[in-house]
Amino acid sequence: MMGTTHAAFALLCYYVIAYSAGLPFDAPIVLFLLIFGSLLPDIDHPRGFLARQSYLFRRTSRGISKFIRHRGIVHSLLAALIATAIVWVIAIFYRWETLAVACFFLGFMSHLAADSLNPTGIKWLQPFSKARVKDGIRTGSIIEKSLFLLILIAISVIVHMVHPESFSIFSEQSSP
Ligand SMILES: [Zn+2]
Repeated sequence: MMGTTHAAFALLCYYVIAYSAGLPFDAPIVLFLLIFGSLLPDIDHPRGFLARQSYLFRRTSRGISKFIRHRGIVHSLLAALIATAIVWVIAIFYRWETLAVACFFLGFMSHLAADSLNPTGIKWLQPFSKARVKDGIRTGSIIEKSLFLLILIAISVIVHMVHPESFSIFSEQSSP
């Protein structure tokens, strides 16, 4: 899946939970770690979203992809748990809220879930099992782009329900 689809899907997952549980919609560190978690698994691909954004990620990505193939161990439940544990330690140091760490995990998991819709699929339980979860939505296909659009609409609907004032730009201005 494309990086934009991963980021949007992670945001939708969080907003559904936030809407149900009354969590904040606009906490910066929460949203940052959510989106970062949703993009991080593709660090095993030299042309992944993060690798295309900065020199540091590009170098890291090239290094990782020499030893680990794309959709390998980095795309697994084990990697999600290890990465979250690392983020947790950093969060303690910087006194980030626990919700932000939970959202990093949510973002990572949403990435694995979205990639499971792809024909290559995901081996969720590697290295312990080679069982693969997959489906037929190809990366960059018209189906993925349609799905991306639907996700954006769903996000807009939820934000409108909780914060209708965010859409005030579209409402008629009353005359003075
Ligand atoms: Zn991926």
